[in-house]
Formats: sequence, C-alpha cells, structure tokens
Amino acid sequence: MQVQAPYIGRFAPSPTGPLHLGSLATALGSFLDAKVHRGQWLLRIEDIDEGRSDSASAEHILHTLKRHGLQWQGEVWVQSQRHTVYQATLTQLQDKNLIYPCACTRKEIDQINAHRAPGENRIYPGTCRNGMPEGREARAIRFRCPVEPIEWRDHRLGALKDDLNVSSGDFVLKRGDGFWAYHLVVVVDDLASKVTHIVRGEDLTDTTARQIAVWKALQGGLDPQAVVPPPAYWHLPVILAADGQKLSKQTGALAVPEHDPVLNLDTVWRHFGLDKIKATAASQWLELAAPVWANYRAAQAAR
Ligand code: GLU
Repeated sequence: MQVQAPYIGRFAPSPTGPLHLGSLATALGSFLDAKVHRGQWLLRIEDIDEGRSDSASAEHILHTLKRHGLQWQGEVWVQSQRHTVYQATLTQLQDKNLIYPCACTRKEIDQINAHRAPGENRIYPGTCRNGMPEGREARAIRFRCPVEPIEWRDHRLGALKDDLNVSSGDFVLKRGDGFWAYHLVVVVDDLASKVTHIVRGEDLTDTTARQIAVWKALQGGLDPQAVVPPPAYWHLPVILAADGQKLSKQTGALAVPEHDPVLNLDTVWRHFGLDKIKATAASQWLELAAPVWANYRAAQAAR
C-alpha cells in the first residue's frame, strides 16, 4: 500500500510592504486548504532580497495573520538566516554540472532580445553554457535548463507544459553581487520543510516550471525511494483593484485594515465568489469557512 505524505502547505510572503488584501486572500486560501486536509500550514518570510525587505513589514505580516486567526505551525522560516543552506545546495548542483558561471551583462542579454516586444520574456541564449569568453568574469550563476519540457498539473488550470529553453533559457540562481534568486531559495525551502501542496496567486504560475526543474535537479541520491515528487500546485486567481491592476505593493495596495478582521475575511471571500459567513470572531469564521472551502476546492478542480 502506498502511504500518502501528510499535507504540508505554506504561505511565503516577501516582506517588502505591509500585508494587503491580495496577500490575505492567498494566506487564507492556503490556510484553509491545509485545514481541510488536516495538514500543517507553515509560514516563511521571504526576505532574501535584503535591500527590498524590511523588518517592520515582516512584523506587520505576522501580526495581521494572527489577528485573522491564521496561525501557522512551528517556527517561522526566515530566508535571510539560511545563506549557508543555499550555498550548500549550489555546491550540490555544481557537483552534478547543472550550473555554470555566466559573464553576460544585462545589456548584452537585452541586445540579443531586442527583437522582442516590451513585456515579453527575455530569453538567455546560452552564451556561456560551454564556458565564458576569454578574459571575462562571472556575473551570475545559471541553471542548465533540462532538454525536455516541464509538464505538471495545476488543480485549477489543469495540465500545463513549459519548454524552458524557449520561455526563459538557462536562468540565474545567484547573482554576481551575492543575491540568491527566488527560484533557488523557494525550492530549497519547500524541500527542506517537506511542503507537499503549494496554494498561491496565479501571478506565479509561470515561475512553476523553473521551480519544478530545480526541484528535480535536487533529487537523485543513491536511494531511488528517496526521490520526493514536486508539490501539488493550485494557483488562485489574484485580486484585482477597481482599475483591473493586480493588487500589489508596486501598485500601492493598502495594508489590510486594522479594525474588523471578520469584515476583511468576508471581503477576500467575496473575491473567491463565496457568500458571506455569519460569524462574530475570526476563529469562528474560519471554522465555518472550512467546509465551504472543501466544496470550493472540488468545484475548482480542472476537468
Ligand atoms: N514570496 C513570493 C511573493 O510574495 C511568493 C512565493 C511563493 O509563494 O512561491 O510573491
């Protein structure tokens, strides 16, 4: 009999501003999904970009989650404390010859992509894949994309496929100035915390293939039984502001209002197309919302 891994979900905000309603929706969705599976819900502060992250925002996120009854299990994972782990992972990828140093500047890559429309992905053409040009210095460490396209299934979006050679090319895992790329740290931490289910905003859908590629690259020790399959993904629709823009720090989204947690929960609930829940406290609201979420999950499943 195959024993299913217990459900472990997570919420992984970047503390680059206070928690806004869009992030509250993601937090709520991933929380309830863990709750209906009787699983664990972890919290990870993705403050790896220390220039853009600040501790006041991290504090606001923790405080706001608690006020809404969104209590995580265990210690908070904090990326800025995990540099040694990321470095060790890079060494592991190096040993498998899955990364290489790249000397290309942003300008050089832009020039090669000059024919692409603004807003279209810029593709790295693999200039340094087989070695950097003579006399050049490394500016980044890149991941060698697998030859085969990545295929996966999203709970809501169904079967998806992405040929990374066409959509991104070999991508950066560490920048020359020492910054870790999101695609590395998110995978290292999801693996280390044994995450089985990722419920997050659909603005991250097109990052998934790169993350699955890194996830797979980090498998394959001596024991084939030890191979951990990538997490199950569910990308939720993101909340749009009245002008159709995604609610985000970049578009100046406001912090979740302080005064009425139940009202805030109802506001994001409406965004999922679900009816108001009659409750006086956040904890009661969440108890009543869980069975509704279970039905919503079933209704959202791609056919
Ligand atoms: N830290 C990312 C963000 O705030 C989310 C990462 C993830 O859920 O994979 O957009």
